Amino acid sequence: MPSLATGPQCRQGRDHPLNEELRTANEQLQNVNEELTVKLDELTRLNDDIDNLIAASDIGTVFLDLLGRIRRFTPAAARSIALTEADVGRRVFDLKLSLDYPTFDDDLYSVLAGGLPVEQEASVTADGRVMMVRIHPYRRSDQALAGAVVTFVDVTRLTAAERRLQVYINSLPHQVAVVDHDGTICLTNAAWKRFAIENGGRPDRTGVGIDYLDVCKAAGAGGSTIADGLQAVLNGEMASFTHEYPCHAPSEFRWFLMTVSPVEGGIGGAVISHINISARKRVEEELRLAASVFENSGESIVIANAAERIVSVNRAFSEITGFAAEEVIGRTPRALFSDRHDTAFYRNLIDDTLGKGLWRGEVWCRRKGGKLFPVWLTVSLVRDEEGQPANLVALFRDLSDRKAAEQRLLESNAELEQFAYVASHDLREPLRMVASYLGMIERKIGPGIPGDLKEYLGYAVDGARRMDALILDLLEYSRVGRGIPRTRGFALGDVIARARANLKVAIEESGAEIFVVGGDLIAEADADDCLRVLQNLLANAIKYCPSDRQPGISISCKSDGEMITVAVADNGIGIPDNQFDRIFRMFQRLHGRQDYGGGTGIGLAICKKSVERMGGALHVSSIVDVGSTFTFTVPAAVQN
Ligand code: ADP
Repeated sequence: MPSLATGPQCRQGRDHPLNEELRTANEQLQNVNEELTVKLDELTRLNDDIDNLIAASDIGTVFLDLLGRIRRFTPAAARSIALTEADVGRRVFDLKLSLDYPTFDDDLYSVLAGGLPVEQEASVTADGRVMMVRIHPYRRSDQALAGAVVTFVDVTRLTAAERRLQVYINSLPHQVAVVDHDGTICLTNAAWKRFAIENGGRPDRTGVGIDYLDVCKAAGAGGSTIADGLQAVLNGEMASFTHEYPCHAPSEFRWFLMTVSPVEGGIGGAVISHINISARKRVEEELRLAASVFENSGESIVIANAAERIVSVNRAFSEITGFAAEEVIGRTPRALFSDRHDTAFYRNLIDDTLGKGLWRGEVWCRRKGGKLFPVWLTVSLVRDEEGQPANLVALFRDLSDRKAAEQRLLESNAELEQFAYVASHDLREPLRMVASYLGMIERKIGPGIPGDLKEYLGYAVDGARRMDALILDLLEYSRVGRGIPRTRGFALGDVIARARANLKVAIEESGAEIFVVGGDLIAEADADDCLRVLQNLLANAIKYCPSDRQPGISISCKSDGEMITVAVADNGIGIPDNQFDRIFRMFQRLHGRQDYGGGTGIGLAICKKSVERMGGALHVSSIVDVGSTFTFTVPAAVQN
């Protein structure tokens, strides 16, 4: 540019005021020129920067005017949606973009019409990449809307990573959700969604985009505890938060454990998981129950380990033995042993338990002060998962009171029996006197005795005879309980033969047929008790048969190894089933005094007492007019 100072006006003289003004103006122009040059340099640099930025950026950018015509685009945009220089000036709506974004045109129109920016994930159809497409209004420096800027950010790797993450968390059996710093759900797994549906909950209430803090707060008191915990983790005030809560379904007992773990100290949000811990809770519940039963059981319980050291005792144990738990735990149970049993007895007890899994019996124990007391002891073996002996569990009940009561009962029974024996024995003497004096009176009066007087005397003698029979039966009854039973092995057939011999006359007179099965079985009891029972039952079977019927009786013996069951079946008159209990009571008869050969009604009471003394039981079954079966049990002899 030519300098203003070298113009023709300069020639008019140096001192001319115009010259001065021109010089000043020239200087000012020079300054402006310099400033412009600097600004131009800056602008050029800025332009270069923008060009370089655009070239270097991976973010594809397309600048559009208000009509949607392409003004400019970056190389990344050309790559992303396949634009060429020829597209500049063309309306983007007319181009066939390789972009799977069905609402692109609508969204762009909306932004060009002054709407809000739009963001959308879309795949690029040609090569399957995924782009985050953002349509943003283009505003000039005076804020006037001049078009739109469309950016494309390649999020293919990010989306793939997200998908992989989703697959990973879907494979977790627990319900997992990720929330952002504000507590809004960003990600949930399949179990989370399933749980919401299973519980009738709406997935849209616990799905992505929902404020989980709000969801928790709306869930009542338990929910606000959870909300507080979650908030504390998000605020970085807690390293993590866990909470166990019940969530029972109508048909299911359910408990869950919620865990909240922070992401980047809570700034990045948190990972929430809900784990179903119902199985663990159930086991805990069972354990609590078992512990309560253990502690509050009325029976003493001692648990020892495989090394025979006590590991646990309950309250009843301490109450009965006087030993506090800490005095015995870790020790062997020897402190409880009494010298009434030798070492071999205790060794056998343990060996039996280890071998058979169970031992039961009466044992004498020692209390803390040294006093002995009887107990009923059950020892059982508990094995571990591999089947190895793990624990011995001993349960025992103090029998002291029962033993004392039994002893008292035995003594009073013995006294009563003694009394009955003496009384009945002594009663026979005056009775015999009454009968003999009545006979003497009859003889004294001689053959001229009036008929009615003879009849009265006959009644009196008969009464005395019946009373004698009653006393004899009473004596027999009291004899059953007296003395110690002589227990030994005997063949039942032998006892049956003795009973038949004793009843020889009755059998012959009635023509009774008797069949015996299993007579070779050996019973282990008092043979006299057994004879008494069999003889009474056989006599009744013959006696209670209609006179026009031949008695048919079968005696069958069967053993189950421990007990022998003897059944005496007849074809007699039978017994109504509402009388089954009554016939075993003393002096109870179902017939008139003289019917079926008479009787005192004591026979079956004697049988019952004898059977029970042998350790068995007596029952009857019967059908009226068809026959009766009396069944009793006796211990079988131990087989070697
Ligand atoms: P008793 O034979 O002296 O009357 P028991 O005690 O032996 O006394 O029997 C009680 C009652 O049970 C009998 O009076 C009889 O009514 C009934 N009874 C006993 N055995 C039989 C039987 N085998 N068949 C029918 N009734 C019987």
